Amino acid sequence: MAGGLLPVAQAVGQTSVAGETGGEVRIERAANGTPHAGKTLALVTPHLDDGPIFAGGTVAKLLKEGYTGYFIRTSNDEKDSYAMSLGETVLANERDSETFVKTIGMKRVFDLSYRNHRMDDVARTELRGRLIFLFRLLKVDTVFSYDPWGHYEENPDHYVTAQAVEAACWMSGGRLDFPEHEAAGLRPHGVREKYYFARGPQLVNRVVDISGTRKEKFAAIRSCRTMIDHMVEDLNADLAARKLRLPELDQGGDKAMEEYIRLAFERRDAAIGKKHGLEAAEEFHYIGPDPEMEDYISRHAVTR
Ligand SMILES: [Zn+2]
Repeated sequence: MAGGLLPVAQAVGQTSVAGETGGEVRIERAANGTPHAGKTLALVTPHLDDGPIFAGGTVAKLLKEGYTGYFIRTSNDEKDSYAMSLGETVLANERDSETFVKTIGMKRVFDLSYRNHRMDDVARTELRGRLIFLFRLLKVDTVFSYDPWGHYEENPDHYVTAQAVEAACWMSGGRLDFPEHEAAGLRPHGVREKYYFARGPQLVNRVVDISGTRKEKFAAIRSCRTMIDHMVEDLNADLAARKLRLPELDQGGDKAMEEYIRLAFERRDAAIGKKHGLEAAEEFHYIGPDPEMEDYISRHAVTR
């Protein structure tokens, strides 16, 4: 820990260490009680499984610590099943989304229903406008989404959603963006904190210790049944084509899904944790309020 380099206003439950790139990485640990009571978070992703896989432990931790949560699913997930038709796939993933929201303890899901794998054809201003409406309606303080600056992302649904989220976060605080919202009773409301995850390389400045919410995370992943089954069966088919098999994955049903979750996700979280001396962790590019200004405010602001 570099002396003198720590931000003065350090939040409860956080420690800082030097990151691999020389920047500062905050370790966020479980907090006591419900310090986030009264705050709202939104998980905004195109696909049902994005959040549970990359941020399920952190979202579960923040919900435990008092946040109210919403899930905004921007695509209709019509392409993600192993053997169903397109229409059956939409319905199966819609039902799994409801199960996910109940399992992790969020209030509800908003399905924006843009066509899966076709989101690069969506007007960015329309998607952004719909997010601004929801951020104001729900008074969202904190978002989870893909990192709009993450590298080597191949899925247009991911980067289109990420860019719309990032812009909507600050524009939702603007008085003259969609001024008609005010007539409907919605006030401008900017998002203060952002936890961005990525499939490829990204700037990591926040590592969250999820050792206390691993159970909740895997229950959340398990609720994405249609998608996990797709992953298992795709892998089995690929292995069969190579005249191979993994005995733990060809037993079918729930058993194969459990083994896949262990192999693909539990091991990944443990490997991230190991880098930071933790049992299990998730990594983020975190953007929050300016710490210098927050520190000044906490020391000088007076009650009106
Ligand atoms: Zn995805």
